[in-house]
Amino acid sequence: MKTRTPEEGFSALTDDAERNRLLAEMAEESTDMISRHTPEDWRFIYASPAVTHLLGYRVEEIVGMSAYDLYHPDDVEDFRLRAPTVTYDRGLYTHTYRFRCKDGHYTWLESTSRTIRDPETNEIREILVVSRDATHRIKADKANRRLARVLESTQDLVIFVNLDHTVSHLNEAARRALRLEQTDYSSFDVARFLTERGQELLSGEGFPGARKTGHWRGEVTMCSLDGTRIPVLLELLAHRSLHGDIEYFSIVAHDLTEKKAAEEQLKQYRADIDHASRLVTMGELASSLAHELNQPLSAMVNYLRGIERRFAGHESIAWRDVDVPITRSIRTALRAGEIIHRMMDFTRKQEPVITSLELPELISDMIEFCDSVADRNQVRVIQEVPSETPLVKGDRIQLEQVLLNLIVNAIEASESTDESPKTVRVTVAPHSEDQIRVSVEDQGPGVSEADMSQLFDRFFSTKQSGLGMGLAISRSLVENLGGELWATNLPEGGASFSFTLNIAD
Ligand code: ADP
Repeated sequence: MKTRTPEEGFSALTDDAERNRLLAEMAEESTDMISRHTPEDWRFIYASPAVTHLLGYRVEEIVGMSAYDLYHPDDVEDFRLRAPTVTYDRGLYTHTYRFRCKDGHYTWLESTSRTIRDPETNEIREILVVSRDATHRIKADKANRRLARVLESTQDLVIFVNLDHTVSHLNEAARRALRLEQTDYSSFDVARFLTERGQELLSGEGFPGARKTGHWRGEVTMCSLDGTRIPVLLELLAHRSLHGDIEYFSIVAHDLTEKKAAEEQLKQYRADIDHASRLVTMGELASSLAHELNQPLSAMVNYLRGIERRFAGHESIAWRDVDVPITRSIRTALRAGEIIHRMMDFTRKQEPVITSLELPELISDMIEFCDSVADRNQVRVIQEVPSETPLVKGDRIQLEQVLLNLIVNAIEASESTDESPKTVRVTVAPHSEDQIRVSVEDQGPGVSEADMSQLFDRFFSTKQSGLGMGLAISRSLVENLGGELWATNLPEGGASFSFTLNIAD
């Protein structure tokens, strides 16, 4: 083909024969299939070579075949109904349908048809059709429809937001949750569905983050038109055009109401178990404590009897005669009171309060508290705590619970089978720059290899009446405070349970 300058272009052609030649040449080279059909049964009079690529037929094979024989059975009826529009109204007509390829499979075609009439008689001479493969478009349409259905049926709240932060579309779940079923929301700012804190977070972090990286995620609280609060995990996405400009934002918000309620319940449940475990520990210690309380009470009775004896038959009595027994009575009564207070504190149900605590004092209190259990088991509990120990961060009752569990376990493990008395050592040492380590070491049998991996499992116990909760709870209490709790066997025999605590700022 000879090359033409634009001035000699197609539109300038006056020569019919030349124009027809060029049209035929374009048809031959086009990737779209150009075909001509008889008006009655749409028989192929001509098909351009693209037919081979589109449908697998050679040109000679398809010429003479009726298009009706190749339509998908489901599309034939539709086509018959529409054909008159093409035939009689002279209109250009576009149609998407399935057409059978030579190998028997159907492909989607999009065709534009128009009638060619005899200029003299106005009779329809033939129908000219341009067809192209529409498989990709149909697949994309289907995928889009499927996505739209998913979007509408998901339980997550999906919101499309314009660049000025007004809402452009909400899915069904969002309309329902935000109580917008009856409302035209198109001019609403998305901030209207967020609490004040949520608005701050989205404008301060969310939108700038999404503009920068395309994506932002955070936990916020949304609120519906009627004021119901909905805690959500919110994903904010910025959608860009091919040129890179942000066109709009989308929000996918996952409702956390049930998760939050479950977390709250779990927290409550854990607190109940912690409390129950303290009651059990106290129950286990009850007989020893009763003994401990009995001692000061009988001592007081003795002191008071002594005073009574001195008074009997004496009109006047000097202070020096009763000074000692009275002072001792007061001291022992105070000691009994302290024991009772500690028991009450320990078994009381209360929210943890994190404060700065003095470890040496806490440890000696607990060792004293375990005195009677230690005596009964013939165990000596000693502490090796440097005087310059920094304050640690924790809740007093929780730390007492951990120490009590470890000391009582150590005493029980050390229970002398031979007559030699055993020692339990409670030591404190620096662990790292910002943590302190507390260890409780005993001279018992240590922990067998098999037990070592299960020690901290809930309900693992080798004791006849053990609950198996002490170590599991102690570990979770220590971990909640940012520390760790672990067990090792000592080379000289016996076990060592250590935990770390954060030093208070
Ligand atoms: P419980 O004391 O009710 O059995 P714990 O969770 O406190 O529950 O302890 C679980 C198990 O860990 C104990 O039954 C015991 O087998 C083992 N154990 C705990 N402390 C020691 C220790 N100091 N020496 C040897 N074994 C121990």
